[in-house]
Amino acid sequence: MSKEKLIKGINAEVAACVKCRLWNQRRHAVPGDGNIKAEIMFIGEAPGRQEDLRGLPFVGAAGKIFDELLHNIGLSRKKVYITNIVKCRPPGNRDPTSEEITTCTGLYLNCQVQIIRPKFLVMLGRHSAAFVLSKAETEVGGITKIHGRVYEINPFGFPVIAIPVFHPAAALYNIKYKDLLEEDFWVLKSEIEKHG
Ligand code: URA
Ligand code: SF4
Repeated sequence: MSKEKLIKGINAEVAACVKCRLWNQRRHAVPGDGNIKAEIMFIGEAPGRQEDLRGLPFVGAAGKIFDELLHNIGLSRKKVYITNIVKCRPPGNRDPTSEEITTCTGLYLNCQVQIIRPKFLVMLGRHSAAFVLSKAETEVGGITKIHGRVYEINPFGFPVIAIPVFHPAAALYNIKYKDLLEEDFWVLKSEIEKHG
């Protein structure tokens, strides 16, 4: 089956999913968006309010920062794929529980990554970083310690260059994180130039 058909199939399953309790308060599930042929895949945490309203990832305030970070290194949404660890908004934007993360990633994220098969994986925030690195049995430090590091690992059955970065929403609260995010996106750009 083509990549396109496989991703469409997942999107349809996510839209109708009732496999964890997050289904119950959502308006829209948010499967993911972007270029399914992309070499660069971003994994965020969970949809927020705007994402839940629109059914698309990173379209609120954190999304604006994300777009800017992409633009700074010459990328755009059309050149990357973006999704989240969990596909439905946790009420009040609470953290997803480990049970919700296990259920949702087991059903969807693992397949999405295997279908897209990116060369570069960027984990946005600590939940995403912890999920990917622990799958690769790599020691997980706090995001403050590990952001901007380059990991050559095999978390999904094929080798990827994985880079954990702060969550773009962190930059909404403290400008310091904006600078750190910009630096980490430059790390991504230089890895793309090296291996792309
Ligand atoms: N934060 C995320 O982690 N994902 C989104 O889609 C929006 C905000
Ligand atoms: Fe299904 Fe994931 Fe939504 Fe839970 S968060 S209902 S597992 S799509």
